[in-house]
Parts: sequence; structure tokens; C-alpha cells
Amino acid sequence: MVIYRVRVFDTPDNPFTGGRLRSASDIALVVDDGLITSRTDFDTARSTHPDAEVVDLRDGVLIPGLVDTHVHLPQVRAIGHLGRPLLDWLDQCALPEEAKLGEPAYAEAVAGEFLTGLISAGTTSAMVFGSHFATAMDIFFAAAEQSGLRITSGLVTSDRNLPDALLTDVERSLEESQGLIDRWHGKGRLRYAVTPRFSFSAGPEMLAAGGRLVAQNPGIWVTSHLNENRDEISGVAQIHPEAIDYLDTYDRAGLVGRRTVLAHNVHPQDRELARMAEAGAVAAHCPTSNSALASGFFPLRRHVEAGVRVALGSDVGAGTGFNLFKEGVQSYFMQQLDPAGGVALTSAHLLHLATAAGAEALELDEVGVLSEGKRFDAVLIRPAEGQPLDVGIRHAADDADALATIFAMGTPADIAEVWIDGCPTHP
Ligand SMILES: [Zn+2]
Repeated sequence: MVIYRVRVFDTPDNPFTGGRLRSASDIALVVDDGLITSRTDFDTARSTHPDAEVVDLRDGVLIPGLVDTHVHLPQVRAIGHLGRPLLDWLDQCALPEEAKLGEPAYAEAVAGEFLTGLISAGTTSAMVFGSHFATAMDIFFAAAEQSGLRITSGLVTSDRNLPDALLTDVERSLEESQGLIDRWHGKGRLRYAVTPRFSFSAGPEMLAAGGRLVAQNPGIWVTSHLNENRDEISGVAQIHPEAIDYLDTYDRAGLVGRRTVLAHNVHPQDRELARMAEAGAVAAHCPTSNSALASGFFPLRRHVEAGVRVALGSDVGAGTGFNLFKEGVQSYFMQQLDPAGGVALTSAHLLHLATAAGAEALELDEVGVLSEGKRFDAVLIRPAEGQPLDVGIRHAADDADALATIFAMGTPADIAEVWIDGCPTHP
């Protein structure tokens, strides 16, 4: 048992429905075997548990472990190519790199670099867009299990419009996916997600095969892309003349439900938003990617008003890194600038999007906030003394301001410690 004496920020009450930042400058979190058994004042914790180890973290700010709802495993070495729209970027930057994961030694190295990227950024849970190669996915799941991270991921499937090395067929995709589900879904903190790359590279039969896996394996997840780029959207309409709209390509295959996470949705139709809300599907909002590829302004207000759940994703490697503070502040910038009228986001909104909203989206009810009864997934932000972020936090007008400073300036270098399920995982 450990008593963490902390300054802590979290968002148990959703700021999008009137909640505010919850902050405390000096309280105790009593953690027993990874479970927060009590959140109370320090003297009470000390007298109730006189023999417990006390760890004083008040020289930093503790927040819940960050949740990245859209990040690509095979693109860790492809971050930072600027100046191309989506389909060119895929052809010239992402897909040649993804093809290299067919080589197991390469996949092993990338898996390690990827997990390091997540942990260093304070990300403790993630929906990971996997590789097109089953062997690479076995390698990744094994590494992810070792890391302790809460990872949901799966084999990426496509049957057209990609380099040959990345294509599969229905029979092979079913066999390989089922093998991976059997080996990894529900093992430790791992879960499986059916992952058609997008309806631009997966025809109706390939999507239907994914739907069959979902029907046959209750509890597995679905992830893909949706309405990212106008050229992509018109291509999808040509490939799927049977579908009402982009979302319907997935829906008619049985891929849209509460365990479905769809990245981007920058250009949705009202019908799609209504259907996502009805089904409980989640939009993974990836603002640096939307900016880097000039995909457009994410219509956050329309999502919120339609009742669609939204969480934050880094979209590495079109996104510019694993840092969810940067995604948060980029979301703020774009909402400020959106000519259609964005949502005025506060620092509490940003923290919520990066933690509790992600945990709720991925049905990880045990994390996302630092309350009694939750597992201790947490990140300690402690910038080097005298650095601008340290100065900013110390001189902030109030806790909401201090949190805004963290989103404005925070980087992985400012993260001093990460805990997953109570275990320190040094970044
Ligand atoms: Zn993506």
C-alpha cells in the first residue's frame, strides 16, 4: 500500500455537459495493489494507514493516464512528412513504411519504438491501428502485453487500392484475424479490434468479413477511418455504390456499434452523425493530423450537438507525434479558428478529451479519472526547475490556468513518471 501525496487534476464531471475541472493542491491517494482505495486528506490517510509508504509528489502535477484513441503502430518512423494531402501522403510516406513490417525483425524494432513513444508521452491506454501483417501483430501484442499498457488493436485488412504487399483476401483475413483473436483478445490488458483500413481500400466483401468476426466474437472492437478527406470520400462512393454514405459502408457490414471507433469524421453528413449517436460509435478526433494533411476543421460542435461521443487521437504518423497535450492545444486552436464556428474549449475540456472521454470511449471504466475505486493509471508532470512550463505552472492564476499552461507547453520531457495499474513505468 502506498499513500501518494499529490496535487491532482482530473475531470470526473464532463465539461461538455456543464462539469468543471476537479483539482486539489494537497490530497492523498491511497493505492493498494493498483487500486485507489481512498481519496482523502493526507492526515486522514496517514492515521488510517500508519504503516503505508508515503510518496510526496507535490512538486509536480498528477493527472490520469492519457488515452490515445487513434494511433498507427507501423507509422512511428513516418512522423513529420508535411505538405501532402491524405492519399498522396499514404502513397509516398506511410504505405512504403508499412510494407516493411512484413519483415519480423523490422516489426519487432518498430513495436518497441512505438510502445516507447506511447509511454514517454504519458499514454497508458490506446486504440492502436495495427499492421497489415499477422506476424507483425503477434510481435506487437507480445510486446504490448510486456509493457502493461491497455491496448486494443488488430490486423489491418484491405483488398484494393494499396501496394500488393498490403493486400489480403477474405479467406486469409478471416483465418489470420481469428487466430489473433484467439491468441490475444482478453489476455491481460489486451483486446482485439477488427480493423479494415478504410472503405477506400476495402470492398463490401472485405468489410462483411469483418462484420462476421464481430458477430462470432462478442466483445471485440472495431476501428477504421471515416470522412477524412474529400477525394477519399468520393472514391469511397465509387467503390461502394450500394451504400447511402461513407458510414453506411461500415454499418451495412455490421461494423457500427458501441465498440466502434472511427477516426477523423471531418466531413460528416447529418445522417451519419445521427446514426453514430444512435449506435454509440465514437469519433476519434485527431487535430494535428487534420492540420498536417489539410483535411479540414473537425466539426466538434456538430458532433456534440448530435450526441456523438468524441475522444482524442494522435494519428501518428500523419499526426505530428505521440504528445496528447499537443493534440489538445491543436484542437483548441482549430476550434478557435473554424469559420463554421467552433466550440470554445477550456483546459478542462482538453483534459477530459485526453483522459476520461477516451477511457469512456474505449469502455475502460476502471481508468480515466483518479477517484476511489479506479485503477491507478497516472502521469506526473514535473518540468525541470526554471523551464518556462515550470515557471508557468508556479505563476498560474488558478488551477485551470496551470492546466492550460501544461497543454500549451507540455512535452514528453516534462513527464517525470507514469504509472499503469499502480506500477511505475519510467518513461
Ligand atoms: Zn489514421
